[in-house]
Amino acid sequence: MHPDDRVLFEKSRPDLSAVQTPKPALPQNTSAHSIDQLLPTELRRHASIGLPGVGQLDLTRHYTRLSRKNFAISTTFYPLGSCTMKYNPAVNETVVTDPGLADIHPYQNEDDLQGALQLIFDLERYLSEISGLAHISLHPAAGAHGELTALMIIREHFRKQGDNERRTVLIPDSAHGTNPASCSLCGFKTVELKSNSEGLVDIDDLRLKIDSNPGGIAALMITNPNTLGLFERRIEEIAKLIHGAGGKVYMDGANLNALMGISRPGDFGVDIMHFNLHKTFSTPHGTGGPGAGPIGVTDELEPYLPIPRVVQEGERYRFEEERPHTIGRTRAYVGNFGVMARAYTYIRALGRDGVRRVGENAVLNANYLRVLLEKHLTVAHPRLCMHEFVLTARRLAKEHGIKATDIAKRLLDLGFHPPTIYFPLIVPEALMIEPTETESKATLDAFAGAFRQIMEEAVSNPDLLHQAPVTTPLTRLDEVRAVKQPELRWRP
Ligand SMILES: *Cc1c(COP(=O)(O)O)cnc(C)c1O
Repeated sequence: MHPDDRVLFEKSRPDLSAVQTPKPALPQNTSAHSIDQLLPTELRRHASIGLPGVGQLDLTRHYTRLSRKNFAISTTFYPLGSCTMKYNPAVNETVVTDPGLADIHPYQNEDDLQGALQLIFDLERYLSEISGLAHISLHPAAGAHGELTALMIIREHFRKQGDNERRTVLIPDSAHGTNPASCSLCGFKTVELKSNSEGLVDIDDLRLKIDSNPGGIAALMITNPNTLGLFERRIEEIAKLIHGAGGKVYMDGANLNALMGISRPGDFGVDIMHFNLHKTFSTPHGTGGPGAGPIGVTDELEPYLPIPRVVQEGERYRFEEERPHTIGRTRAYVGNFGVMARAYTYIRALGRDGVRRVGENAVLNANYLRVLLEKHLTVAHPRLCMHEFVLTARRLAKEHGIKATDIAKRLLDLGFHPPTIYFPLIVPEALMIEPTETESKATLDAFAGAFRQIMEEAVSNPDLLHQAPVTTPLTRLDEVRAVKQPELRWRP
């Protein structure tokens, strides 16, 4: 191993330190503030916790070196379908680190928080305008949390109506795994809806499932565009059927790029939905970083929204806690404020026309790439797509033994982050590709070039594809062993 590749503990020298701790602002060791007095003896640590000692420069180099072994959106094209890291403008970071936004606290006097409360209030209005749903709550901490909050609202709505028999939620078989998980957590029973040969909700199957659950349908959870990147063209008819059965239409709007400024869920029959600010509205995510999964609701469901709400009175904004029908608190305070400030900045920077242009370019880029890649692999549903599309490597697997995973690994050698693979579950050997609206034609062409090379290699050098990646710091992992015997901790 190269000495630079050692972990920090191996590089450690006890006499070095990369940190200079600032002087505390509070008086130290005055009798009232002495740590010794404030902390009970049994909670005090006496032994060293053994942090490694390295110099500042070495620390910087250590982490910079590590980061260069990784694939990142700041270095490579990153066409990960569905959970895509989309555009993350640097100006967002300037805004959120402004002390006026970064150093405030919800328990401060409301008079000192007027700017932040206005930001929350206005962002709710923008999302309302984009979605066509009258009321927004920014509380949920992520997409899945938005799903759960929305389902709690639906459950509470039926409970208040004395209608406790509605326990069934219909979910298409192409849905994101969080949909059925949120249902179970909320005590609903999920019933799967089949997709038809076009990749859309099978209306006959929908009718059948409605008819076999008389008085039992609480909701349909539908993703539109769905995870195949296709717009559910019969959404209004689908919504009518659900409403006719007394249920609510929930939309998973995690990835809203293709619809923004063009088509509004509230206008095509949706009662309640969630957004992912950390996907569509520009917060970097991954590695479990903070997100936000706001929900939008109709007037009918508004009374159940979580507290506190931010309301406007004349020129002033304030928190409102007294709401008799609320489902209560779903998290501390009002949610992940930094993520909201980024989404606000993003929407304000784009303006109404810019938001629509995002939608148009997302669809244009996806279709351009789809047509290029159609020459090399089969598109699961070959027609106009929205912001993403799904390829299947089924034939390649059968004829040449090259699977979706081999293609994904070889893309790493050729300098691209792989797409999402083996999702949605209904497409065998799936590769799900979302180029996003901000990529250039040259990048999309280069990506198609990499696919062409891989298809040639599938014939001329299949062994290479089975071994790939061969140029990365770590080559092909034993994936079974990585799952069964994960070695996640360094030990001396
Ligand atoms: C990402 C995603 C979710 C879940 O969002 P999280 O923020 O990861 O909880 C739900 N549905 C779809 C379609 C998604 O892409």
